[in-house]
Amino acid sequence: MTDTQSYLFYQTRTPRPFLDRGEGIYLYDESGKRYIDASSGAMVSNIGHSNPRVLAKMKAQMDKATFGYRLHFRTHPSEDLAAKTVAMTPDGLDRVFFVSGGSEAVESAVKLARQCALATGQGRRHKVISRYPSYHGCTFGALDLTGYDPLREPFAPMMEGMPKVAAPTTYLDRDALSEEERGIRYAELLRDKIEEAGPDTVLAFLMEPIGGASTGALVAPDSYYTRIREICDAYGVLLIFDEVMSGAGRTGKFLAAEHWGITPDIVALSKGFGAGYAPLGAIIAGARLVEPVLDSGGFQHGFTYAGNPLACAAGLAVLEELENHNLIENAARMGEVLKAKLQALMARYPIIGDVRGKGLLLAFELVADRETMQPLPKDWNAHARLVEIAYDLGLIIYSRRTRGGIEGDHFLICPPLVITEPQIDEIMHLLDTALARYA
Ligand code: PLP
Repeated sequence: MTDTQSYLFYQTRTPRPFLDRGEGIYLYDESGKRYIDASSGAMVSNIGHSNPRVLAKMKAQMDKATFGYRLHFRTHPSEDLAAKTVAMTPDGLDRVFFVSGGSEAVESAVKLARQCALATGQGRRHKVISRYPSYHGCTFGALDLTGYDPLREPFAPMMEGMPKVAAPTTYLDRDALSEEERGIRYAELLRDKIEEAGPDTVLAFLMEPIGGASTGALVAPDSYYTRIREICDAYGVLLIFDEVMSGAGRTGKFLAAEHWGITPDIVALSKGFGAGYAPLGAIIAGARLVEPVLDSGGFQHGFTYAGNPLACAAGLAVLEELENHNLIENAARMGEVLKAKLQALMARYPIIGDVRGKGLLLAFELVADRETMQPLPKDWNAHARLVEIAYDLGLIIYSRRTRGGIEGDHFLICPPLVITEPQIDEIMHLLDTALARYA
């Protein structure tokens, strides 16, 4: 196969070099060019590339069995990974269901919520409220819950159109309220939406605790999270956290929810959970939700590859890396360092309007005017252009232009959790060069 001939297609025809190998935070193409993977791919490779201990554990499992169908056998990797996941998760989340990716995790969470409602005599509950903007995946169910126009529009006539509320984009607000008051104001939008939809028909509220590709690492004021939990409790609405991107240690805690001391009813995990060693995801829920479902005929849902022993062996090895090498603490510490350095860049580049995020889920946003947060003109294609300049320099960053609700070019800087301070300096040097070329 040559560079110019390919039978394969993805979203676009963007030609990219062939990947040769990875090592830690670095990737190398076949010409030998080195890239810093400063976005961990799509916020996936949390423990870095080609970790020899993980590979050895996967090889040991491969030598035994690569697949055993879950209805035919229990396997030690799946049981052990479930136990380890529960041990690393806050109390109250003690049942695990495996899937192979983020969209599957989101849909599984919603289907568990629905079957729990049926099993407990609340059959009218079926509406899932989500936020705008948001990203929850590209399969139909997850897409219907996604607040991102360009992805939804082609398929809008084929979806039900679940209710949405505004995500708290408080960094754009220019009112006289304090941050905490703004957090409450945004949370109260959920109450209004539940009332409008009919409280006895609302099943769940789904949100990314820290927005990922949809909003560029948007963190709400603390008051938002606690008030959201209170509102869900008051209406008997299940709170589902989509931690596909924010989970598995990326924000400096195993779950981002831990930053606010609240426990969602169901959590969706993927990305960093398998960390690119295997397609893997999970939902974690409390026994009080799962047991009634199992008692009333079982969970009518499941994917062929769910819980396969090879993926679970990889996932277990990834969680052991997080634990044995204190990578979650490193994410918290290095996140502070990286964020401070990104903030320092704002003094030199007025085009950077905002730096935000937690741990190593960080982003900056480019704007035309920092005071008014006026976005750059859409046809400048800033998000794509800066990414290409950086890529040429050997720096991989991840970018989107958010549309719908808010507009803006944001850039996620989310290196693997194994990153060191000298490596952060390498990223900053390349980013500075890229911005100087762009500006
Ligand atoms: N949820 C969130 C928050 C995500 O960021 C993503 C992917 O980017 C998904 C769900 C969908 O995951 P996948 O692409 O693995 O289906």
